Amino acid sequence: MSEPDATLQIAGTHMPRGRTTHVRVPVLTDLDGSDIALHVHVIAGVRPGPTLAVVTVLHGGEWQAVDISLALLDRLDPAEMTGNLIVVPIANPLAFATGTRNIVDESDSPDLNRSFGGEQAWLADQLGRAIVDHALSHADAVLDFHSGLWGGTMGSVTCGRDYADPAVSQRSYELARAFGRPHVRRGDLATRFPGPKSMVGYAGQVLGIPGAISEIGGTGFAPEIEAQWLEDNVAGVRGVMQELGILDGDPPRAAEVLVFDAVRRVNPTIGGMLEPVFPPEGMMRDVAEQGDLLGRVWSPYTLDVVEELRAPVRGLVDMVPRPYPVRPGDWAYLMLDLDAPGTRTVVGDELP
Ligand SMILES: [Zn+2]
Repeated sequence: MSEPDATLQIAGTHMPRGRTTHVRVPVLTDLDGSDIALHVHVIAGVRPGPTLAVVTVLHGGEWQAVDISLALLDRLDPAEMTGNLIVVPIANPLAFATGTRNIVDESDSPDLNRSFGGEQAWLADQLGRAIVDHALSHADAVLDFHSGLWGGTMGSVTCGRDYADPAVSQRSYELARAFGRPHVRRGDLATRFPGPKSMVGYAGQVLGIPGAISEIGGTGFAPEIEAQWLEDNVAGVRGVMQELGILDGDPPRAAEVLVFDAVRRVNPTIGGMLEPVFPPEGMMRDVAEQGDLLGRVWSPYTLDVVEELRAPVRGLVDMVPRPYPVRPGDWAYLMLDLDAPGTRTVVGDELP
């Protein structure tokens, strides 16, 4: 937890108030002799206060989230801050270098966001420990950013509801709501999927630090749409900083929040060219009825349509692709089930 009256110290470096400091922390040495390092940036507010950690690119294929880190470091002014922002722009430099979700190695745990708390020497376990030691252990709250791989985009914010300390679950919802979206996915991050091995799940369950996950944005879409997703994420971080008291003002909380857990994946079973029908502009806005056509897959060999992807439930569409070639099971659509028992509207400051 942060020490509100002392200056923050990361890997032996003090973070002077009113400045942005960058620390390069060597984590391990690879076979070719190169260092694998974590780069940690800290905007230390002029006044002491709470610390928020923002971590981007835990999954190497979701690299566009580094733009969020850049925008925050560019735009936030430490003179306006009561407390600190820790930013780790590339949490997983190994998977980032290969453009893949996971680290390409022979380990049992190549997915960094399923390796927190790992006690082995695997690359992901060592990186996870470094993120805990040099970012999370100094923070009072954490935000994690994921999105679609190239060709896909997502549109919601997630928090955990099952932490051992119910106060952490409640605070996590308040942070997610402060992000400003009219819907929050609230799931069992600690005790079910993926257990306390995701970064946010580990932070909440083991470290007692509340957190939320933004899954907003993707790449391969029109530049103006992608620019809007970036702005939505930056506004969301500012909202969370207001919720924590690091920035002045009230967060852009929605008056009514649709809280949900049940989602249904609608992915192709056959490889081919994915042709979307449901438009990205309708993501988390337009209701698709059960049976509605979301997209189709056609064979690039026979040029015939080989599969239709239809809405399995009535719901909002939480993940949308652009046209791109898919292998069986690749990401296409994710639907929020509006008629599932746990989907409900929460009004004002009521807690879900
Ligand atoms: Zn991810």
